[in-house]
Amino acid sequence: MRLIFIGPPGVGKGTQAKQICDQFGILHLSTGDILREEISQNSLIGQAAKRFIDKGELVPDKLLLDMMSIRLNQKDCKNGYCLDGFPRTIPQAEGLELILQNLQQSIDAVISIDADEKELIQRLVLRGQNSGRTDDTSDVVKQRLDVYRKQTAPLIEFYSKRNLLHSIDGLGEISEITQRILNSLS
Ligand code: AMP
Repeated sequence: MRLIFIGPPGVGKGTQAKQICDQFGILHLSTGDILREEISQNSLIGQAAKRFIDKGELVPDKLLLDMMSIRLNQKDCKNGYCLDGFPRTIPQAEGLELILQNLQQSIDAVISIDADEKELIQRLVLRGQNSGRTDDTSDVVKQRLDVYRKQTAPLIEFYSKRNLLHSIDGLGEISEITQRILNSLS
């Protein structure tokens, strides 16, 4: 099983992606987590990505595509995975199609979770007070939501045209939302 999770910041995309990976016994690949790990190691990728992440902007497509091309070619990806936060732009989605073609793999479903903007801002500012994430402050949160609407939301139509889209309401208890996703996949 190969899945993609799309959703605005704060919608619970990461939490849901992890639950679904556990259910299906597949790998959880979050590009946000991978980039934060690179930053904590002060690697070249981390140094290049940090200034974009701290401003709430997207890291350039080329960096993401190079990084994910290497990652998806690794052995542990053979049995399936959930892509959490990638692709995030149309060029990334097109690049991913090429990567998968070369691997003779395809995506089974794209889970798009969404919720009301005001609810998302409230959740994120609250998360920022607990997570210590440098990009969960209210200014950066608004910027990230704006980036999502402009650059990532067009993927909904992209995947809808490919008949892969599962739209999920992100309001409610965590377990309820997980069940909605599982129902949509069955
Ligand atoms: P996330 O943990 O998914 O919210 O990602 C945190 C930040 O990492 C984003 O605001 C971006 O700056 C960066 N990032 C993560 N995934 C991508 C991606 N696919 N393309 C560009 N930037 C990304």
